Amino acid sequence: MQTISNEARAVQDAVEQFFAERILPNHHLWLEQSGIHEEPEIESQLRHEARELGLWNLALPRLADDEPGTRLTNYEFTGVAEILGRLPWASRVFNSHAPDTPNMELLQLFGTPMQKTTFLKPLLEGDCGSCFSMTEPEVASSDPNNLQTRIERDGDDYVINGRKWFSSNGSLEKTRFSILVGVSDPEAPKSQRQSLIIVPLDTPGVHVERDVPVFGSVHKTNVHTQFQFTNVRVPADNLIGEEGAGFAIGQARLGPARLHHCMRAIGECEVLISLMIQRAQSRETFGNRVDTYSSTKEAIARSRIELDQARLMVKHVARLLDTVGNKDARKEISMIKVSTFLAYQNIADRAIQLFGAAGITSDSPAAAALVRARGLRIADGPDEVHLQTIYRLESQEQDLTNLHYYLGPEILG
Ligand SMILES: Cc1cc2nc3c(=O)[nH]c(=O)nc-3n(C[C@H](O)[C@H](O)[C@H](O)COP(=O)(O)OP(=O)(O)OC[C@H]3O[C@@H](n4cnc5c(N)ncnc54)[C@H](O)[C@@H]3O)c2cc1C
Repeated sequence: MQTISNEARAVQDAVEQFFAERILPNHHLWLEQSGIHEEPEIESQLRHEARELGLWNLALPRLADDEPGTRLTNYEFTGVAEILGRLPWASRVFNSHAPDTPNMELLQLFGTPMQKTTFLKPLLEGDCGSCFSMTEPEVASSDPNNLQTRIERDGDDYVINGRKWFSSNGSLEKTRFSILVGVSDPEAPKSQRQSLIIVPLDTPGVHVERDVPVFGSVHKTNVHTQFQFTNVRVPADNLIGEEGAGFAIGQARLGPARLHHCMRAIGECEVLISLMIQRAQSRETFGNRVDTYSSTKEAIARSRIELDQARLMVKHVARLLDTVGNKDARKEISMIKVSTFLAYQNIADRAIQLFGAAGITSDSPAAAALVRARGLRIADGPDEVHLQTIYRLESQEQDLTNLHYYLGPEILG
């Protein structure tokens, strides 16, 4: 197993200590305040403390010299991300959360100097938030060719018309802009029809229709927003990259985004396994401790197997991102996207079962974990689409010559 640098080890140790001393003991306070505020006071305070300690922008390997952050590689971030994953709000304390981190990475890679000054810098500083608007309620958006929102050039501006939903964090007060995907040329070849453009959310014509309830409720700190964009006029300078390059740029954003979600899920699953063991050891039914039942042991053992498999694969993919890059790791990214969240879902489901009725309440983290895991099997592309990608790339890579030596006459014909 690859080792990490001394600097990265020091960051990981510092995050571990900060989590143990400042974040975890304040979790109940955060829960209380999160019912009232979008950014609970305790979270703001801890963000300030983390920034002072230099524990900031932990998930961005390519920071410029004058940009704040730790410059961990993707591989080095895996261990840190696991710590952040133990609580769903911990990433935000270190300015290392979605969708801001992938948006920052996108602006680092493709933003113009103006876009970096106006939009990237405040995100890096943690002074504002952002969202990403691709999915549309009217069309099956796992196929980007279906998108209908129009981005049309008009003089020095682009004019945007369309509807989006599931723009995570879209309606939060802190969220100042969206990176929007839309059709700039419906006649162009499929892969060149779309563009990405930055839309400041205070532009006339941007209307929040609602925050979509997820599994029956809206969480103040983590909303999924539905927008109507009507004749929204933004300067042509807000276009990211070339006109028609939206598809390629969007793909570049999604690689690290998927990887980070996987890393955090692993951290959360570790907590669930510990809680399962503790619960099973502390309760009795029919005269036996629950952990003496083979079904309990198997549930926990299977969870451990699935989690360690997921971790090894995620670390492998992180290393690929650091070496060959996002594009050449497409198959492996799809593989962890499918396998990690399935393991996450299974483990959350087993935790619910072991906790009994308490498992579906908010007195244990299992129910919320299951909701997140279920959503992640759809977010950033549903399982089926990733499985198709894996098959397509796998079948292209295969060498099918000489297979006849393995086969008998009935098959060879
Ligand atoms: C928690 C969460 C957060 C999200 N955050 C964002 C965000 O910030 N910004 C944003 O733009 N979007 C976001 N999304 C939306 C997400 O990216 C889309 O939901 C996803 O891409 C699927 O699109 P869709 O919902 O339109 O499903 P559809 O495209 O309608 O697909 C529905 C189902 O059809 C089946 N299907 C589709 N294609 C295939 C295929 N090729 N083979 C077999 N079956 C298939 C699958 O079962 C799939 O689940 C988020 C979603 C969730 C759940």
